[in-house]
Amino acid sequence: MEKRFVYMDHAATTYTKPEVLEAMMPYFTEQFGNASSIYTFGRRSKAAIEEAREKVAKALNALPDEIYFTGGGSEADNWAIKGVAFANRDKGNHIITTKIEHHAVLHTCEYLEKQGFEVTYLDVDEYGMINLEDLKKAITDKTILITIMFANNEIGTIQPIAEIGKIARERGIYFHTDAVQAVGNVNIDVKEMNIDLLSLAAHKFYGPKGVGALYIRKGVKIDNLIHGGGQERKRRAGTENLPGIVGLGKAIELATSNIEEHNRKIKSMRDRLLNGIMEKIPYTKLNGHPEKRLPGNINVSFQFIEGESLLLLLDHYGICASTGSACSSGSLDPSHVLMAIGLPHEIAHGSLRLSLGDLNKEEDVDYVLEVLPQIVQRLRDMSPLYESFIKEGGK
Ligand SMILES: *Cc1c(COP(=O)(O)O)cnc(C)c1O
Repeated sequence: MEKRFVYMDHAATTYTKPEVLEAMMPYFTEQFGNASSIYTFGRRSKAAIEEAREKVAKALNALPDEIYFTGGGSEADNWAIKGVAFANRDKGNHIITTKIEHHAVLHTCEYLEKQGFEVTYLDVDEYGMINLEDLKKAITDKTILITIMFANNEIGTIQPIAEIGKIARERGIYFHTDAVQAVGNVNIDVKEMNIDLLSLAAHKFYGPKGVGALYIRKGVKIDNLIHGGGQERKRRAGTENLPGIVGLGKAIELATSNIEEHNRKIKSMRDRLLNGIMEKIPYTKLNGHPEKRLPGNINVSFQFIEGESLLLLLDHYGICASTGSACSSGSLDPSHVLMAIGLPHEIAHGSLRLSLGDLNKEEDVDYVLEVLPQIVQRLRDMSPLYESFIKEGGK
């Protein structure tokens, strides 16, 4: 078997598409003017930013005036949550989120708890879904913000965003969603879904790293996060990341123009890979929702295996993937998402995330289906737990 380089970690980041890079290039070199300068050379840079803003707005069914560029997904999440919290403190101090959010949301909420805010962390079911009745019950007259992610980065579960939006709007509570994993994979309409704030990041949909955006519905009361100059209509200071913003615009245009076709292709490879894994590797569990999940996401747990060792062996064969195992996260506990869906520690430790995307070909699926079962077996053969399990009849 010939060694291949197989990238199956698109949920961590994606490559920048050549068309995107090509659109960015002039803004590093010839057209580098500061968008705040009043001369023509600066105004051309400003025009490029506004064109990108229109592209982002169109992708979300928002208005260009509702889009603000940021330094990525984490900044957008921080801004949305801290900005709404501090600007609406007179109305209440209660925030509702979930136990499975990205750390950019969870750690921001924990920070706000130290500042006197109260946060409800909703439980999820075994598939990673929130319960809408739980959400309704958690709302108090002090609730000022609901922040629930669109799609989960580890297990791929997609939340009932339109239903959450409806509940929030009816109660007059702001609704923020971290849509970093959803853009380019799910059709998003902020008006129809009653979303007040939405975070996105270019590097998750074939754009450059370090640039993102926050959609803020017109009329939402929000404080600034980054103070300084008057950029982004006085709401986000700092000289704009001109090439990055142009790249984000191009990338979101490409990613949202053909979602159905893209999903069909990725999903068919994903399903073939997943079915193959389940067929070839016994004592394997699929994590996340069987249907309501991102098209490229596979998250499985192999019993009697340590995720970290699995990743190292996969790397040896040229395969890039992720795990929710403790070691890789540098903490003692396995992933908070796998804990929240109720996995026992030892099962969570044997988890593997394969996230497929544009870089993958059918040959990659064939290769992983050849390599992975062998590696899992090799690791199990070294496990005393597995040995006694088999001796006892494998039950
Ligand atoms: C990647 C990711 C982020 C963070 O985005 P950055 O651009 O890396 O700051 C936030 N939320 C989710 C769901 C993500 O997948």
